Amino acid sequence: MDRRRGQLGRPLTVAALAVAVGVGAAACGSGRGDAGAAPTTDSAVDDDRPVVLTTFTVLADMARNVAGDHLRVESITDVGAEIHGYEPTPEDLRRAAGADLVLDNGLGLEAWFAQFVADVDAEHVVLSDGVKTIAIAGEDGVVNPHAWMSPSGGQVYVDNIVEALSDLDPAHAGDFAANGAAYAAELEELRVELVESLRALPPDQRVLVTCEGAFSYLARDAGLAEAYLWPVNSERQSTPRQVAAVIDRVRAEDVPAVFCESTVNGDAQRQVAAETGARYGGTLFVDSLSGPGGPVPTYLDLLRHDAATIVTGLTGEDLP
Ligand SMILES: [Zn+2]
Repeated sequence: MDRRRGQLGRPLTVAALAVAVGVGAAACGSGRGDAGAAPTTDSAVDDDRPVVLTTFTVLADMARNVAGDHLRVESITDVGAEIHGYEPTPEDLRRAAGADLVLDNGLGLEAWFAQFVADVDAEHVVLSDGVKTIAIAGEDGVVNPHAWMSPSGGQVYVDNIVEALSDLDPAHAGDFAANGAAYAAELEELRVELVESLRALPPDQRVLVTCEGAFSYLARDAGLAEAYLWPVNSERQSTPRQVAAVIDRVRAEDVPAVFCESTVNGDAQRQVAAETGARYGGTLFVDSLSGPGGPVPTYLDLLRHDAATIVTGLTGEDLP
């Protein structure tokens, strides 16, 4: 069978029969004219290190912390991208064809990912495997995919990354294990700090109101109640009924501040603030890091920033 990976000179694991179907589909799709030549020109392969692709920036940062300099880690989606309903480009498929490993979140986060991995040869590993999941309220058993928003969930991701990278590059398994242990220890320290700061919120200020319902895992860790405009991005965002329901809740519980996330439009939440007199407490980060000069260039920064923004918003006071 004439498979593109034969031209890459790199042994790749074929995980499923679907891959063979997918490669055929990709070859018939757009971008086929240059697909075969891509590995020589793609910046993703301009050094000899194995290439690890992640679906979004948060996972890329986590994987880099474990990989150190041994592997080249990149994110398929850019900073600020909407990851739930993302549509992979022909360029993404070319990059994936040159990758040795693809890491995704799973739990239905990346709605586009099943087709994407069907179209590429590289093995993929689901980083949320083993996390204690939370169902979305009222969504008939649908799992909330944002498990990295809990530092303890993040530690499960780190374990999975260590295992996946060690399988890919066994010669450096010792380094990956050591990096993973150090990183997990930082996460554990941060978990204790976050839980303490959020638990210190007064009992009548413990409702976290956001745009997307992305904070269930953090709320569970910290003992917060949640309210949100819509459960998951790219599904029925900001309907009048959703906005009215959140306005009722904010009024009923006298919630002092409401928030929205960096990758979605905050207008509906500003409307909630305007109509209820609650403060607009600022921007939380969930589905993407910021750029290097922004407030959350790393996953640890993201967790710290969100906890500080929530505490400051709900109490009017900065974290000590
Ligand atoms: Zn999300």
